Amino acid sequence: SRQRQDYDHVIKLLVIGDSGVGKTSLLLRFSEDSFTTSFISTIGIDFKIKKVMIDEKCCKLQIWDTAGQERFRTITKAYYRGAMGIMLVYDTTDEKSFENVRNWMKNIEQNAAPDVNKVLLGNKSDSAKRAISTQMGAALAEEFGIDYFETSAKTGSFVEDAFVHISRDVKNR
Ligand code: GDP
Ligand code: MG
Repeated sequence: SRQRQDYDHVIKLLVIGDSGVGKTSLLLRFSEDSFTTSFISTIGIDFKIKKVMIDEKCCKLQIWDTAGQERFRTITKAYYRGAMGIMLVYDTTDEKSFENVRNWMKNIEQNAAPDVNKVLLGNKSDSAKRAISTQMGAALAEEFGIDYFETSAKTGSFVEDAFVHISRDVKNR
């Protein structure tokens, strides 16, 4: 029947990072085939739903994207509530966005659940205007004890891998 649950897990993910790093582009790249999109104008946040198979289980991913409030770093407890996984994104062509990863980490520590899974993404890997090397990204991720992916929302490189990786971490924890 229509009531029957057609998934095994529901996983709430957040995409976080400086304005302009490509958060919305990553979400659009990943969720092209999504069947639901919502925009909650009152709080200025929207999310997408995408179902993926992970280790033969159907996972319904609910992925939240900020709607500009990251510019003022006014991301608070309400946004992090219920988050199981966080994709922390910087732009490999923008040093400032990389430096700000530490501030985002603090923000996460102060506002998200202590057991939230995290992954670091260096986005725009397709660009020739690189400012942050692969080694620098990997070293920072290692310092935080989290995994690292270099992605391109433009070409799609490693985008699905990153979303599936964090989802698997959440599913298996
Ligand atoms: P947000 O503010 O973090 O949501 O960033 P957006 O998704 O709005 O992207 C900001 C700008 O970066 C836009 O002009 C995008 O087209 C561009 N952009 C996003 N991802 C990539 C990428 O992987 N490669 C390149 N070259 N540009 C990107
Ligand atoms: Mg955006």
